[in-house]
Amino acid sequence: MMQLFIPLNFLGFVYREIRGALANIERMFTILDKVPKVVDSPNASGKSPTIGALQFKQVSFQYDERTVLKDISFDVPVGQKIAVVGDSGAGKSTLIKLLFRFYDVNQGQILIDGIDIKDLTQQALRQAIAIVPQDTVLFNDSLYENIRYGRLDATQAEIEQAVELAHLTDFIESLPDKWQTKVGERGLKLSGGEKQRVSIARAILKSTPILVFDEATSSLDSRSEKAILNALRDAAKGHTSLVVAHRLSTIIDADNIIVLSQGKVVESGTHNQLINAQGLYAHLWQIQNERA
Ligand code: ATP
Repeated sequence: MMQLFIPLNFLGFVYREIRGALANIERMFTILDKVPKVVDSPNASGKSPTIGALQFKQVSFQYDERTVLKDISFDVPVGQKIAVVGDSGAGKSTLIKLLFRFYDVNQGQILIDGIDIKDLTQQALRQAIAIVPQDTVLFNDSLYENIRYGRLDATQAEIEQAVELAHLTDFIESLPDKWQTKVGERGLKLSGGEKQRVSIARAILKSTPILVFDEATSSLDSRSEKAILNALRDAAKGHTSLVVAHRLSTIIDADNIIVLSQGKVVESGTHNQLINAQGLYAHLWQIQNERA
């Protein structure tokens, strides 16, 4: 019996090692995906901004030959929630890529706490921003490990608080294996909404002055959407947040909404101001409500 047990036990060990290695390879690919296309300037500061005042100043950008953002200016004051909306292809995701410096602006500046992001190391810049991306990458590991990935040295109490703020506690408690539930390959065992809330928990755990939420385009049922909305509202407390929204219902409470069309800011204001202005936002709002 013992002779059988040892090889089986060994196989179990090998399996765990391989599984661990695969998770690491996945992690590596996520990192490789984000290989910087820009280089740090020799005098770049390694001190990460801590306040979180964000400004886009006359930013223009082109991929190859095509200009996709033209003369974009707006502020995201400390602690406020600013939303960016617009048609598909308007340049919303590109704004986020520029903020992370996956590309450098062709003209203008992006400033955090008054510092041009080109004057920061990319590491210092990215330490100041947490992102909830459209497609959350989850590892085939436990929910606990997937959330802890937000900050590996987080304490148990911090993890539990992040989970609470991300409105995940009831979901986790409802699972037979609770925190130890395996999420499956690429998180296949979780719904789109649950995955985004795991991502929100990670972002909260990262504890940065700036939070960026890139809303998924895929539609969610209204319960799931409400859970995300609540999670986002709680996560945004005490942060400067920039939300790229596809569903306008997500951003009714934003302090300011920037409306992009073909790479330009065509209007901005609160939800009520923009509805009264009867412009592009009011038109998009009407279309979405007709569909609902
Ligand atoms: P959506 O709502 O569909 O996600 P978006 O407003 O986020 O759209 P972007 O993804 O910022 O739009 O794209 C803006 C424009 O830039 C689009 O015309 C797109 O085709 C183009 N574009 C995006 N990424 C690249 C790239 N890597 N190389 C060349 N062009 C790109």
